[in-house]
Formats: sequence, structure tokens, C-alpha cells
Amino acid sequence: MEQKRSIKRTLIGLSVVPAVFIGIALTAISTSTLWNSMSREVSNSLSVAAHSVYNTYSLVAPGDYYEEDGVLMKGDIRVEGDHTIVDALKESYGMEITLFYGDERKLTTITDADGNRLTGTRADDQTVRWVLESGREYFSEKVDIGGEDYFGFYIPVLNRDKSVVGMAFAGKKRSEVMNSMLASVSQSMLICISVIAVTLLVCVVASQKIIRAIKSIMEYLGYLAKSDFTQKMPKSVLRRNDEIGEMGKYAETVSKSLKDMITTDPLTGLFNRRACKSYLDKWIEKCNKKEKDMITVAIGDIDFFKKINDTYGHDCGDLVLVTVSDIFKRHMGEDGCVARWGGEEFLLVFEEGAKAAEKRLRKMLEEIRGYEFEYKEERFHITFTCGINGDIVGKTFDAIINEADEYLYKGKTGGRDRIVAADHTVTFSS
Ligand code: GH3
Ligand code: MG
Ligand code: MG
Repeated sequence: MEQKRSIKRTLIGLSVVPAVFIGIALTAISTSTLWNSMSREVSNSLSVAAHSVYNTYSLVAPGDYYEEDGVLMKGDIRVEGDHTIVDALKESYGMEITLFYGDERKLTTITDADGNRLTGTRADDQTVRWVLESGREYFSEKVDIGGEDYFGFYIPVLNRDKSVVGMAFAGKKRSEVMNSMLASVSQSMLICISVIAVTLLVCVVASQKIIRAIKSIMEYLGYLAKSDFTQKMPKSVLRRNDEIGEMGKYAETVSKSLKDMITTDPLTGLFNRRACKSYLDKWIEKCNKKEKDMITVAIGDIDFFKKINDTYGHDCGDLVLVTVSDIFKRHMGEDGCVARWGGEEFLLVFEEGAKAAEKRLRKMLEEIRGYEFEYKEERFHITFTCGINGDIVGKTFDAIINEADEYLYKGKTGGRDRIVAADHTVTFSS
């Protein structure tokens, strides 16, 4: 069997999936942009510091670099062993500083785990090739110095004849850079996540509202499918100014038309047999619960109706049916119920006791008998016979109707144009 798909899943999926994808894309783009700009910023500041090493030594000790008995000199000044300048630069730039002679670290602020300076150690092959051999500046996001990774910037150190004799280095521990990077990334990620969460919340709330409205319409139609017209469409649906609101209004219109179709007789506009039965059933239940006769039922039939059809035609018969129905409707008003029970037979339910109901019924029949029908050139009158039953409590629907029918039959056989009750008959004087 094909599995039912829920619109709730589809709608929420439609909002959640793009939001998550956009969120991931946004986070990835902002992280990589942030990484690139931070890397550039670190590279620039390292470059400034490395140049500053070169310039400071040029200022403090004019002349060329050279080695004398394995000791690094610049001009007349012995450079080797004196870490004052590199330490001061480290202090002011917040970076590790190294001065290489050839590929050897002669002066450095970088120390091992025991705090010993890494002097005498050498640069790696890649750096030697780029800086010493090619005379170019070199930036790397990952230089291993003494087992620790650094962001490092190397510049060539030149003597007056432009020969490359060493390198100036400025570096920052990769872990430090990564930490500050992570702090910024996590901040931007937090913003992204908050934006996604708010977007999701808005989408989910909006989806839920739509889903609730659709569900209400679905439930309403479900009741309609079972011919239950008692349900009301929620106001929240009808207030909607969109297609769903329209759908709700149409469902209400369909319900009304369907109800009319199912419960109303098309010729006379009266309730049909089915509608009147369910109305009467409810009253019988009420009477039996309260053990009190609260209604009176009457069944009536136009006298010699077949003759009207035969004499004036079927259309004239229809006109008589409609006229009689209108008289009943007007007299009954909002209380009780009048239905077309069959061909020219009517059922009336009065929401009152037998005496009061009989009085009203009498007025109706008097009006019917007094009514002059006009059809084409013809003028004629009709009469009506009724059986009336006000004894309801403890009886079934069928029993109540059968008794009323019996009284009607008595009326027909007894001469027509009358109301017959259980213990008396009402006739009309012409
Ligand atoms: P009685 O006084 O014994 O009731 O006699 P009657 O002629 O009224 O009763 P009968 O049952 O013999 O005839 C009823 C007629 O009603 C027969 C049928 O053709 C006619 N009829 C039923 N429904 C309609 C309708 O919708 N329109 C018209 N014009 N005639 C209808
Ligand atoms: Mg009849
Ligand atoms: Mg009849």
C-alpha cells in the first residue's frame, strides 16, 4: 500500500532543508573568508616585524655581516651572543624573532622546553631555497621550529654588494593564531546559527498555522462526508485572507448546498422525509428522557389530489403542492417542522401539546380550504385531511407515525376534510 505523505513533513521540510543548507554554506564562506583575511593580516604584521629586524641591525651596526673565528660580526660590532635587540623586538611586536647567518639561527627568541634559545639550529630546505638561494621573501602558514608549528615570515639579509648572507625571521605560534581565529569563527558561527534558528522558527510557526488551517478544513470535510452538518468551520480559517481562507469558505458553501440538497424537497422547499425523521427522532428521545409529551405529530394528505392532476394537469397539481406548503411554512414559522412526507402527504411536528397543536392545525386547514386556486381560466378549492397524535412518550418513531397514519385513514374513510385525533374528530362547517 502506498504510504500517506503528510503535508506537515513536506512544508516543514521545505523550510528546514534550505535553511540548513544556506546555514552551512554561509558558515563555510564566512569561515574561509575570515581565515584568508586573518592569514593576510598575520602575514603583513610578520613582514613588518621581519623588516624591522633587518632595519634595526642596519641602523645599530652599519657595515656587512661576516664571520670572524666562527663569531657573527656586523661592521665593527660583534652581533653574536647579544640578544638585546631581538628580545626588544619580540617585546614590542609580540612575535618570535630570529636572525640567521646563512641557514643558521645566530640570534633567536625561540626557546626549547627547558628555556634554552634555539641558536645553532638550521632553517629547512624549502626556506633555504626560497630565501637564501633565490633572494625572495617567504611566508608560510606552517613552519616547524623545534617541534612547534609557526606562521613565519622570512626576508633575505643582504650585504652592501647585494649578496644574500642570511635571513631575518618573524613568527607566531600557529596554536596562538588558531585560537584567536577560532574565537572569531565561533562568533560568526554563533551569528549564523542564531539567524538560521530564527528563520527556522518563523518558518515552522508559519507552516504550523497553515497546517492547522488545512487540518481544520480536512476535519470539516470529513464530517461532511459522513453527512454531519453540525460542525462549524473555525473562525481562524474563515478570517484568513488567502487561498486557504477561500478553501474554508468554499467548504462552508458546499456544506450548505449539500445540506439543502439532502434535507430539502426541491419542489416545495420543505424538509424531506429523511430530514424530518432525524428531527423527529431527536424530539422522541427528548420526550422519553423527560417522560413528558412535548410534541405533537400530524400526518395530512390533500383530498382527491389525483382528480386535480387529472382535471387540470400535473403542473396545476404542482402549484397546489407549493401553495399548501407555503401555508404550512408560514404558520409553523421557526417552531416545529413541516415536511413533504411523500407525494401529496405532509408531516407536521409541533413543539407543543396536542391541544395547542390541534388549534394551530385547524387554522391551517381552514386557510387551505378557504384558498381559491387559480390555474389558467379555472378556479377551484381543495380540502385536507389530517391524523394527529400527541401521545409520544415511550413510543418508537414507527409506532407514533403508524398511529397518526391510522387516524388519517379514519379521516379519509370517514368523509375527508377533517382532523382525526385518538379520541375525537374535528370537522369544518362549509
Ligand atoms: P385521497 O383523497 O384518498 O388522498 O385521494 P387522492 O387522489 O389524493 O390520492 P391518491 O393517492 O389516489 O393520489 C395521489 C396522487 O398524487 C397520485 C400522484 O400522481 C399524485 N402526485 C404525487 N406526487 C406528485 C407531484 O409531485 N406532483 C403532482 N402534480 N402530482 C403528484
Ligand atoms: Mg395519498
Ligand atoms: Mg390525497
